[in-house]
Amino acid sequence: MKVTEHIERAKGKTLFSFEIIPPQKGSNINELYKNIDPLMEFNPPFIDVTTSREEFVYIDKGEGLLDRKITRRRPGTLGICAAIKHKYDVDTIPHLLCGGFTKEETEYMLVDCHYLGINNIMALRGDAMKHQRYFEPTAGGHSYAVDLVRQIHNLRCGKYLHETLEEGERASFCVGVAGYPEKHLEAPSIDFDLKKLKEKVDAGADYVVTQMFFDNQKFFRFIEQAKDYGIHVPIIPGLKPIAVKRHLQLLPQVFKIDLPDTLIAAVEKCKNNKEVRQVGVEWSIQQSKELKEAGIPVLHYYSMGKSDNIKTIAEAVF
Ligand code: FAD
Repeated sequence: MKVTEHIERAKGKTLFSFEIIPPQKGSNINELYKNIDPLMEFNPPFIDVTTSREEFVYIDKGEGLLDRKITRRRPGTLGICAAIKHKYDVDTIPHLLCGGFTKEETEYMLVDCHYLGINNIMALRGDAMKHQRYFEPTAGGHSYAVDLVRQIHNLRCGKYLHETLEEGERASFCVGVAGYPEKHLEAPSIDFDLKKLKEKVDAGADYVVTQMFFDNQKFFRFIEQAKDYGIHVPIIPGLKPIAVKRHLQLLPQVFKIDLPDTLIAAVEKCKNNKEVRQVGVEWSIQQSKELKEAGIPVLHYYSMGKSDNIKTIAEAVF
């Protein structure tokens, strides 16, 4: 079922969903299941599976020579989606990226999704590769998420690449895109970013999932601003509990988000990361309860491969 249908069916009840990261190449999928199992009692209508950018690895060839190879450390997004869907009978959402994929590869992936009955897609540009300062489009790929949304929308209309078919099978995808309550790190202003978000919605996006934030007022303001720009699709908040002290520096640095002073003070007081986790969970519970009371349709948690703190939050909120 599509995300938008899940929301309609819930009739105002707030749903719980979460996102997982594929395990490192060479790992057993049972490790992943161990993190999903404890969260299934909260009946997530869908689970997102991220896709990671490819990266360069350098292999020592001896005598001072290095061989540069390209690899994806966490492959298997679509396979994991199919495996989880089959094992738990839950909808799964693969994240599709512009970066690292040609339009043809994207089309093949979408065809696979359609055959597998995976009819929700999260359409993203992706970040720069590790060695790059800025995102550089892949040769033959898309530059912005809006282009990817257009390609997916074309498939909804039975329009495949290169017009090799007069009219192909229509693949009825529901498309999610990313939104940024504190603006995307590259955007020159929140207004610019909102205009770009509106373009994604006009191109066919059905819902928005936000970057993490720790101050609900920023999310509520974002919803209002989005409405002012004519964005009326569901906006799902992305939530992440702080888990280690280093997050105080890391999260603002990587995602260009602010942390509230009271949260910073509470984390700074902690003597160890066990205490930090407790603070992070309590903060997230308060955030979640307020969002639920405000009638937000889905709360979406970034599990980052660990489910115990998400489980504690879900127990308190759902
Ligand atoms: P876009 O919507 O293309 O926007 C990127 C930037 O370009 C923005 O600053 C925007 O304002 C600007 N822009 C957009 N269109 C134009 C235009 N036509 N001209 C000029 N500027 C423009 N990353 C991963 O690698 N894997 C994942 O699985 C993943 N999952 C994510 C899930 C969520 C919910 C979120 C919020 C982010 C996720 N990301 C993931 C991170 C995401 O890929 C990065 O934030 C990326 O830098 C931007 O992606 P986007 O889809 O928002 O890009």
